[in-house]
Amino acid sequence: MERVILHVDGDGFFAGCEVAKNPTLRGKPVIVGRERGMALAMTYEAKACGVKRGMTLAEVRRICPDAILLDADHESYALFSERMNNIIARYTSHLERYSIDESFADITTMNISLKMSHEDIAMKIKTILKQELGMTFSIGIAPTKVLAKLGSKYKKPDGLTIIKSNTINDFLRKTPIENIWGIGPQTSEFLKESSVTTAYDFAQKSEHWVTAMLAKPYQDIWYELRGTNALPLNTDKRAPYQSLMRTRTFAPPTSTQRFLLAELSRHTEVVCARAREHGLAGKTFSFFLKTQGLQFRGIELKLSQSTNTPEELIELAGKHLQYIHEEDILYRATGVTLGTLTNAGEIQRNLFDTTLRVERLEKIHHEVDLLNTKFGEPLIHLASSMHVQKIRKTNFISRDERFLARLHIPIIGTIG
Ligand SMILES: [Mg+2]
Repeated sequence: MERVILHVDGDGFFAGCEVAKNPTLRGKPVIVGRERGMALAMTYEAKACGVKRGMTLAEVRRICPDAILLDADHESYALFSERMNNIIARYTSHLERYSIDESFADITTMNISLKMSHEDIAMKIKTILKQELGMTFSIGIAPTKVLAKLGSKYKKPDGLTIIKSNTINDFLRKTPIENIWGIGPQTSEFLKESSVTTAYDFAQKSEHWVTAMLAKPYQDIWYELRGTNALPLNTDKRAPYQSLMRTRTFAPPTSTQRFLLAELSRHTEVVCARAREHGLAGKTFSFFLKTQGLQFRGIELKLSQSTNTPEELIELAGKHLQYIHEEDILYRATGVTLGTLTNAGEIQRNLFDTTLRVERLEKIHHEVDLLNTKFGEPLIHLASSMHVQKIRKTNFISRDERFLARLHIPIIGTIG
């Protein structure tokens, strides 16, 4: 049976929460991210002034003199997120909390039990979210997750877009390849080299081509774009971002420790940047090597305190790589996971010298984040990641860690 998947997405969620908390802000250009020195989220009034994510506050003030700048309040956003999911859960228990303001819900059979059409169920969820939370959400309805996500983006804010199996191609033709969920800049460049510029072009490629040319996550996207479910809902009740992961396959396979460590270093940087972006820090750090024979060799480290700065983690990876690395084995991928994530504000600092070091690093990373966000692509890397920059092969890079977070990696040892 064809599935009916909803994707619910908060419109300018952090800013929406601020307006919901303080209704005198309604109708005003509100921007969240003052404490980070940049725009993290904004109301549509601010977007209308030209404010974009990642802009520095100086730029924001210049183009939008009436801007109301606020610190992010992640605790209250988490509460709003919880309320959002509780509302969706009234209509279906088949729910995936994908991120703080995005959830997938499977309502395939709910039309029968609720005696309502799928469209009416979606409309009802949207109306109640607006009434009870005081902010708007956009919803996509489609047979697969990737298509539902396309739908929620299609009309924003306060949109409801339905993609049925007989209208899939109309939507795919209008979607540039880089706008597909899970397809990052490197992969879209690679696809463009094969004359794939829209989601439609991609969906038209043969199964044989897709299997031969692309890694598993992209094959899944290809199926989903064609209306075939390849990504089941992850209905695990845990909070989103339990862990952040990044991996990359490279060619040719290698055993060179220096290269592998540079790869791990780069992944660690990216994962830490992502954690900082979401105000999170991790208490466990794991990394793996994947052999040419597709075996995973991994190690998980419990950290003495939560962190979201890469230096110490890279040092740890350097120290422990020898436990999983063998000279005479060729490796074709590496990956890292920052796990047991909690709010960065809750980081316990018990040693005075550690505190100093961590805070100094946080200051540097704050600056680096600003620059990298400003230019869209990461410009600044740790020296330990530089080796990989030079030898980068543009082979199937996974930019969306969340896709891969469910990948099962056998851990061969734990070092406390
Ligand atoms: Mg959103």
